[in-house]
Order: sequence, then structure tokens, then C-alpha cells
Amino acid sequence: PARGLLRSALLGASRSERLRHTVERLPLTRDVVARYVAGTEQSDAVRVAGELAGEGLAVTIDYLGEDTRDRAQATTVAQQYVSLLEALHKAELAPDVEVSVKLSALGRTLPADGTAIALENAQQICQAAADAGTTVTLDMEDHTTTDATLDVLRNLRADFPSVGVVLQAQLKRTEADCRDLAYEGSRVRLCKGAYDEPESVAFRDRGEVDRSYVRCMKVLFAGDGYPMIATHDARLVEIAGSLAARHRREQGSYEYQMLYGLRSREQRRLVRAGERVRVYVPYGPEWYAYLVRRLAERPANLGFLLRSVASS
Ligand code: FAD
Repeated sequence: PARGLLRSALLGASRSERLRHTVERLPLTRDVVARYVAGTEQSDAVRVAGELAGEGLAVTIDYLGEDTRDRAQATTVAQQYVSLLEALHKAELAPDVEVSVKLSALGRTLPADGTAIALENAQQICQAAADAGTTVTLDMEDHTTTDATLDVLRNLRADFPSVGVVLQAQLKRTEADCRDLAYEGSRVRLCKGAYDEPESVAFRDRGEVDRSYVRCMKVLFAGDGYPMIATHDARLVEIAGSLAARHRREQGSYEYQMLYGLRSREQRRLVRAGERVRVYVPYGPEWYAYLVRRLAERPANLGFLLRSVASS
């Protein structure tokens, strides 16, 4: 229970504007941010992606910017992605490097036609990805946005059939969503879910979330799509391996995904074992909410943050 309270408090803090402004201005960049975030500039993301690709890892890059408040800001985020994709193409890093996008950053929460604006921006990014020879995965945000994200996915896939989406095992609906999306050509990134969700829609017990994760994996591995197993949980990674064997799936017909800075040795171990592993690399000036969500998952890391604040 204490851990649950701390998680809720930290997830609350991840939405606090005042805290964000204070913390983003602290000279923390070296220690804490650099551990989980490539940097604030596009060149940082391209450099880190190149380093990881050199080690045989695939990459997905996320431009951190979540609270898009007006149309101009949404356009700026889309332009960031377009220019990032051009840079990746130039650096010859596509197709091993794709991008992950949050529809809220592309304008979905704007009043009136937010979803239409986000779709239009996402289409531009998908076109730039196609031109660069790579693709896009839609991140999933809190449960109130799941349906809208899946609608946007359907729209995008009409023109860009390689676009993928994230599903969150902590939501009770996700096993059914996995069934709907287990068709040929479909790309589903399965994660536990990083948002503090109500019991009406989500499993709140960690064991229950893990069991849901296994049920979802079973659906995805038995299906015809491309499962992307996004977890640092050693047991779930192991179960994924046995499901792949049971369904006679070749290495490369599914992949593992982990966050930049987490379980780096495990990422390399899987690569050595012949597995495809993709690292999720975030960059950009708005790293605060992302960092706090990572800390909420592992409050032991909080001491690390506090020590950096104290010594900065
Ligand atoms: P946990 O139960 O959190 O951790 C299992 C074990 O992993 C721990 O016991 C520990 O050994 C190790 N571990 C976990 N976290 C850490 C850490 N911070 N430091 C050190 N060791 C750690 N969530 C969304 O809601 N939407 C998304 O779109 C989304 N996209 C994601 C994309 C990728 C590629 C990944 C890997 C995660 C994504 N997430 C997303 C986050 C995800 O939902 C979880 O919050 C996060 O991955 C932690 O869950 P876990 O599966 O690693 O399991």
C-alpha cells in the first residue's frame, strides 16, 4: 500500500505545472536526465540512436512534449518529427529507427476539432516516416483516450499500413483490443501501462496486471500480427520467449522493447541471443513528466533524483 500511495503521489506530481517549472530549470541534465533521456536536442537523439544501432539494437524515438495547448504548438511538434525523420534518413539510420508519437502532443486535447488536428499532424509524420523508409507507433495515454487513439490508428493505417499502436495490459479492455488487432500486418506494442487508472477500468493489483499481460501476449503470439513486447519484467520476457517457441515464431517475427537507460545489459543479452530488441529513446526539452513516470515505477530511483538535486 505504501508503494501504491507513493506511485499515486508521483503520478500526481507528473501532472503538476508548478513542480515541472521548478524541476525543469534545475541544472540536472548530467546525472538524472541523461540516464533516461537522450538530451534536449534533435542531434542528441540522432547521436544516441546511432550508438544503439551500432550495437545491433533497433530504436524508436519519442519527442517529449505532452501538454500541447494551441494549434501552433501542435504544428511545431509535428515539424520536429518531420525534421527528425529527415535527419535519421540522412544519417542512414532508417529503417532500424522508427518514431513514437503521443496524439496529445499533436493537438488531440485542443477544443472542438482536436482529434482531427492530431490526425492531420500524425498523417504528416507518417508521410515523412514513409519517405525516410521507416514507420510510426502511436503511444497510448490514459484510458479516456484509448478509443480515440484506436480510431486515429484505423485512419492512418488506410494510407500507412505499417503504423503500430501501444496497448496497456493494466486496462481490462486490452485483451479484447489485442484480439481485434492480432491480424496480419498489425503491429502492437504491449506494455503494462504507466497511468494511474480507476478500478472501474483497470487492474490495480500488480499480480493481476501481470496475468493480464500474459493473456494479452498469448493472443498476440497466436495471432498473425507483429507482437512488440515492451517490458523490463524478467518473468514476462521469459514467458514471451516460450510463447514464441510454442507458436514456432522465428526470431524477428516479434520483438522486445525496453526504455533507454533501463536494463541495458539485458537488452544486449537478448541481442546476443539473436532476438530483435528496440530501445525507446526520448529527447526534448519537456522531459519532466516522462522522468517522474519512470520514478513512479521504481521509487528506489527517487533517492538518485534527490541526491542530484542536492548536489546541483
Ligand atoms: P515493472 O513491473 O514496472 O518492472 C518489472 C521489473 O523491471 C522491475 O522489478 C525491475 O527489475 C525492472 N524495472 C522496471 N522499471 C525499472 C526502472 N525504472 N529502473 C530499473 N529497473 C526497472 N506506458 C504507457 O502507458 N503508454 C505507452 O505508450 C508506453 N510506451 C512504452 C514503450 C516502451 C518501449 C516501454 C518499455 C514502456 C512503455 N510504457 C508505456 C511504460 C509501461 O507501461 C510501464 O510503465 C513501464 O515499462 C514499466 O513496466 P514494466 O513492464 O517494465 O514492469
